Amino acid sequence: RFSTAAAMEEPISPPVQVNYTQLLINGQFVDAASGKTFPTLDPRTGEVIAHVAEGDVEDVNRAVIAARKAFDEGPWPRMTAYERSRIMYRFADLIEKHNDDIAALETWDNGKPYEQAAKIEVPMLARLMRYYAGWADKIHGLVVPADGPHHVQVLHEPIGVAGQIIPWNFPLLMYGWKVGPALACGNTVVLKTAEQTPLSALYVTKLFHEAGLPDGVLNIVSGFGPTAGAALASHMDVDKLAFTGSTATGKIVLELASRSNLKQVTLELGGKSPMIIMDDADIDQAVELAHFALFFNQGQCCCAGSRTFVHERVYDEFVEKAKARAQKRVVGDPFKQGIEQGPQIDEDQFNKILRMIKSGVDEGANLVAGGAQLGDKGYYIQPTVFSDVQDGMKIAKEEIFGPVQSILKFKDLDEVIRRSNNSRYGLAAGIFTNNLATANTLMRALRVGSVWINCFDVFDAAIPFGGYKMSGHGREKGIDSLKNYLQVKAVVTPLNNPAW
Ligand code: NAD
Repeated sequence: RFSTAAAMEEPISPPVQVNYTQLLINGQFVDAASGKTFPTLDPRTGEVIAHVAEGDVEDVNRAVIAARKAFDEGPWPRMTAYERSRIMYRFADLIEKHNDDIAALETWDNGKPYEQAAKIEVPMLARLMRYYAGWADKIHGLVVPADGPHHVQVLHEPIGVAGQIIPWNFPLLMYGWKVGPALACGNTVVLKTAEQTPLSALYVTKLFHEAGLPDGVLNIVSGFGPTAGAALASHMDVDKLAFTGSTATGKIVLELASRSNLKQVTLELGGKSPMIIMDDADIDQAVELAHFALFFNQGQCCCAGSRTFVHERVYDEFVEKAKARAQKRVVGDPFKQGIEQGPQIDEDQFNKILRMIKSGVDEGANLVAGGAQLGDKGYYIQPTVFSDVQDGMKIAKEEIFGPVQSILKFKDLDEVIRRSNNSRYGLAAGIFTNNLATANTLMRALRVGSVWINCFDVFDAAIPFGGYKMSGHGREKGIDSLKNYLQVKAVVTPLNNPAW
């Protein structure tokens, strides 16, 4: 039923070359101090795309020194905010100009459908840059009224050197979410990409320099978590750390920050987001939305709708239709037109997902679609659907991060609220209903950072995103993200005459 043929065919030759594989420090491409490299792999085949410089402690040090100098002495925080914004706008123009090459690189390194990269993600990166470029010259302090004869100003200043650690599921969007607000506020940055997807950040940061970004303002270090990532999180001269990835690693970086210089930390971590389908819903639309909420990006979304709660009155029909939809999902070479799902990112994730599927079967969930590898090379997995999932099962509690939909049955609103909130995560939720009171009741009751009502995964640059509970600290995107990158300074001076 699945497009096995597509996954079995010879992979399409990517329409792009890899030009940049070194670290980008102080505006220059340089080898790692150790001279070491690591391979980045094509998820369609497991074959090597390129060998990339492997940054470690010494390279992070070099990058932090460059960022520090660009902050303390360099032009970035001192140039006019307007000039900073113009460089960011020019960068956005260059992203658009090179849209297809950037998208091809992203697809090659990550395995996501090329159409998704080219039509959604790369344009979204340009949009994010323009959004934050627009903020650069609108960030300003306040004069506040205080009791007594005092003139009180509140200054909003950049924090300094920001360390940023990003994951592999949306390499360019995570770059945009982090770099955009940090630079708009006048900070300088050392960004560590995920070891699975180092290529696109190097390419676009080269463009950023062409747009006029001064040396040292944005440094890119490729490398692994326990080495380069840990060095950044524990660096004494990094003033702020922004991390996106697993909850387990989030705990580690928070600890490293607290054991070093107490740098401020924002965390965007995992989720187990409920997608709630009420009985008044149009079932065909609900099936399509729940399918999208889970399967988008090969199921590799922190906010994936990974607990599909369906009202008992429409449950059987929903399960049948969800099964049919999953079996129609077009899986294959992500460079091919019309492909909905490519391979998973790497062998580790591929094996983890297959283990989770096995645990679902072992714990008694009903496997209604998929359940196995697709084809015989690369990391393709059949779109998989489980029904009769119970809250205590591993597939209902832990992040799968793959194309595995878990459908659970519920009877009434109070019950689904209680069960939805019964999770250590609190990232997002989807609600599907035509009843306004039901939507509003659910929206208020759910302990999550994003609620999508009759939609899902709407990621505008202006909409804040982040988690409750163990899904993280702080918000990214929108105006909220600026606060992560600003220090607040209160300045008090006496007045001669309180009347003024
Ligand atoms: P991860 O958290 O280990 O990796 C994310 C980033 O953190 C990468 O850049 C990595 O190099 C870095 N890192 C890893 N260990 C580190 C350390 N000790 N110190 C500093 N940085 C470190 O995630 P993963 O292993 O790639 O994926 C594991 C699971 O995490 C996935 O199965 C999924 O459940 C979840 N995940 C969530 C997101 C998200 O967007 N929230 C993204 C990717 C993965």
